[in-house]
Amino acid sequence: MGRKFNFGAGPATLPTSVLEEVKNELLDWKGKGLSVMEISHRSDDYTEIAHEAEKDFRKLLNISESYSVLFSHGGATIHNAMIPLNFSSREGEASYVMSGHWASASMKEAKKYTNVNIAASSEKTNFSFFPPQSSWEVTEKSDYIHITPNETIGGISLKKIKKELIPIIADYSSSILSEPIDINLFGMLYGGAQKNIGPAGLGFAIIKKDLLGKAQEITPTMLNYKVLTESSSMFNTPPTFSWYVAGKVFKWLIAKGGVDSIGLINQKKAMKLYNFIDNSNLYRNDIEKSSRSIMNVPFSLKNEDLNNKFLSDSAKHGLLELKGHRSVGGMRASIYNAMPEEGVEALIEFMKLFEAENL
Ligand code: PMP
Repeated sequence: MGRKFNFGAGPATLPTSVLEEVKNELLDWKGKGLSVMEISHRSDDYTEIAHEAEKDFRKLLNISESYSVLFSHGGATIHNAMIPLNFSSREGEASYVMSGHWASASMKEAKKYTNVNIAASSEKTNFSFFPPQSSWEVTEKSDYIHITPNETIGGISLKKIKKELIPIIADYSSSILSEPIDINLFGMLYGGAQKNIGPAGLGFAIIKKDLLGKAQEITPTMLNYKVLTESSSMFNTPPTFSWYVAGKVFKWLIAKGGVDSIGLINQKKAMKLYNFIDNSNLYRNDIEKSSRSIMNVPFSLKNEDLNNKFLSDSAKHGLLELKGHRSVGGMRASIYNAMPEEGVEALIEFMKLFEAENL
């Protein structure tokens, strides 16, 4: 059976060519007679895989040596505890920008380890826009400002970020590598790998080195960024297989022309889908245009009774995982880097047909 188009928010679609390479190497990696899953993370062979992945990730995002790059366990969520533990204190404070579900999850976790100031929020309008940076009320004593530049569930994103005096820490789970960004604007960027990088289980962190070394006493060793930096993400056995696949995704992206080039493709894919939705009589997206995400496109059907039919018919057309998050309902098309333009075109064709048949 051929591969279908997977619009899932994560674990998300991976480049088919990467999966094929992995398949070909799975039982016998580089003629060594064993699988990459079966080799020691301390071996020279694995060290080479790890270094190469880091080198390519640095190249793709133009990350200088003043930043530490980590590949860790625990996806994005573990960082929600690690961030206040490493960069604030029980008496300290941190500012959080409330842009939706994931920002809120980060803030709730941080409250266990520091005091939280809500710098801005768009909750009153049901997160229909990203609070602009000019509206953030960051307290002077904040140790950092936390943002979620792409809200995977709500489908909103922050388009432009300016440097602040206080380090900005950003959850880039669902938008890392999707378009060019200036790493130097941030104290730290982090996220789970399972959207634009590779298999779930892996998380990434890019941390300004001069922020390291101030972790709270209670910080578990495994959650101390300094320890992870000094051990090159190998304080314990890392998620070796996910890291290996991530390395292949980085190579795939470099071969496609890197972040500049995928950024243009991503813009084009998103614009096509939003244009279609805005001009249709059946579908709608209520996010303010200036805040619309190019990675996650939520939409609803004006007649909600058609939801189940839409999902079953789309699956019959080879378009999978279009159901919106349970907290918001409706539909959501996640169109990460590995979703080809043809996937978006196939979705639009189907949506047109469905509209014609059901309106
Ligand atoms: N932040 C964002 C923006 C996300 O989209 C997700 C997962 N969808 C998370 C955090 C949580 O990630 P994980 O499951 O890897 O912990």
